[in-house]
Amino acid sequence: MICSLCQERAIVSQRYLGRHLCQDHFIQDFEGRMVQTIVVNRMIEKGERIAVAVSGGKDSTALLFGLSRVLAEKEVEMLAVTVDEGIAGYRDDTILAAKRIARQLGVEQVIVSFREKYGWSLDEMVVGAEVAPCTYCGVFRKNALNRAAKSLGATKLATGHNQDDEAQSVMMNYLKGDMERLMRFRPRREQPGLVPRIKPLRDIPEKEIALYAMVNGIYFESRECPYARLSLRADVRDMMNRMESLFPGTRQKTLQGFERIEELCRGDWAQMELAECRECGEPCVGKRCKACELLGMMKTIN
Ligand code: SF4
Repeated sequence: MICSLCQERAIVSQRYLGRHLCQDHFIQDFEGRMVQTIVVNRMIEKGERIAVAVSGGKDSTALLFGLSRVLAEKEVEMLAVTVDEGIAGYRDDTILAAKRIARQLGVEQVIVSFREKYGWSLDEMVVGAEVAPCTYCGVFRKNALNRAAKSLGATKLATGHNQDDEAQSVMMNYLKGDMERLMRFRPRREQPGLVPRIKPLRDIPEKEIALYAMVNGIYFESRECPYARLSLRADVRDMMNRMESLFPGTRQKTLQGFERIEELCRGDWAQMELAECRECGEPCVGKRCKACELLGMMKTIN
């Protein structure tokens, strides 16, 4: 297989674009797409302080590495925030990987743990719980990241969500018929107390992110989270992977379709004003944030 742009051996086939790329052209293309996503969506401006959520998995590792390259000449500060949810046999290894990449790039790193912040690790939270582990994990991780980013004076919070994650989230909301949540998925306008989130890898497929990490020598093979198989996302991911291999471009088209729906529905689904949680002060819909609600439930059970 020869690169579509030169005579070198290709290392990747981008079937959805009908081309193959060699290592140099792949790296160039990857970083170019990151920059394009950042510029088109006005994600990062000069003088910003960006908190990068780094779990130590391949996506967030590639994000920190990629940002450090594409922003090298820019007046932008970066720091890494790592959340330790407390998942035995899984998170300890990725935290070591997160420490390694932050040290390698000379980026300041802050680690926050569920146990210290909320009194329970994720493993402890889910014992006997009726709510799915990923719900606890997602709610408290978002809360911890926002609080950490605010306390560090960050102007943006960058996460490693990739094209697969984004297309899966859209599809999950279609399957649940949850228009409210689907519309919350569009980029938010600024809200008090909420550090704006950016996803510079949202247009890049997961496989290419893994490849980028490999060719740059920063790939870390982590185990799958033991709770991953218990989520609807796992089934949607398998279904979309099958569709993508049968019909290349399915994920991209799913996202483009959502963007079109979002444009058409914009007037009917105005963004909600967020209020302050009456218990912790974090921004939320309603009077009490989801994290305080779940903490209240856990205190009752325990
Ligand atoms: Fe958290 Fe679920 Fe992801 Fe595991 S699979 S890290 S529990 S969101």
